[in-house]
Amino acid sequence: MDYALLRKKMVDEQIVARGIRDQRVLEVMRQTPRHLFVDPGLAHQAYGDSALPIGDGQTISQPYIVAYMLASMELTGGEKVLEIGMGSGYLTVLLSRLVERVYAVERLRSLAIPARQLLDRLDCSNVLVKIFDGSYGWPEAAPFDAIVVSAVAAAEPPAALLDQLAVGGRLVIPLAVDQGEYLYRFTRLEQGGFESERLLACSFVKLVRRHGGR
Ligand code: SAH
Repeated sequence: MDYALLRKKMVDEQIVARGIRDQRVLEVMRQTPRHLFVDPGLAHQAYGDSALPIGDGQTISQPYIVAYMLASMELTGGEKVLEIGMGSGYLTVLLSRLVERVYAVERLRSLAIPARQLLDRLDCSNVLVKIFDGSYGWPEAAPFDAIVVSAVAAAEPPAALLDQLAVGGRLVIPLAVDQGEYLYRFTRLEQGGFESERLLACSFVKLVRRHGGR
């Protein structure tokens, strides 16, 4: 299988064709071997236009959504980023190649351990991983220039994540609002408060809170 060719087609036909223009994002997606992040039996589908199962009822997100989330974070290279719900680690590796430092949180050990091993194999030495409920964020490492969440929360983002944004920092998170699910971006404003933007309809697995509740 010519995976480099499949990756190029994925980027051209699913991502560029739908309007993503961030050249750094397109380049890392052309370079990163997404087929390593799924079960070998699904490797031939890894560059298709859909999410795929990664075990424990979780999924690796659709390539276009991953690209859209990354582009929405408006990364330029020097950032410190928090990722909640690392799952397969695919977005983590892309982030690791796009920014200075990545803090990744995953609640399921069964996913976090193989993801960590893959990060090591791909030489992602700028990533720290924690197995915990990511709705608490990572207060010891805050503030973050960007935070990205790959699981859908309630109608409001967890307060801890907003608290841990730097001024000008962006939180990209799916929320369940108006009977639908939408990707939102919250930006911490210099004068205080947040700008909130609804970006795109989407579908994610649930953000599971440690003690239940919202
Ligand atoms: N970006 C990942 C998405 C995986 S699916 C990928 O493409 O592979 C979302 C992940 O969020 C799942 O692995 C799930 O276990 C995790 N998750 C759900 N609730 C969480 C929480 N409260 N804290 C940390 N991780 C959580």
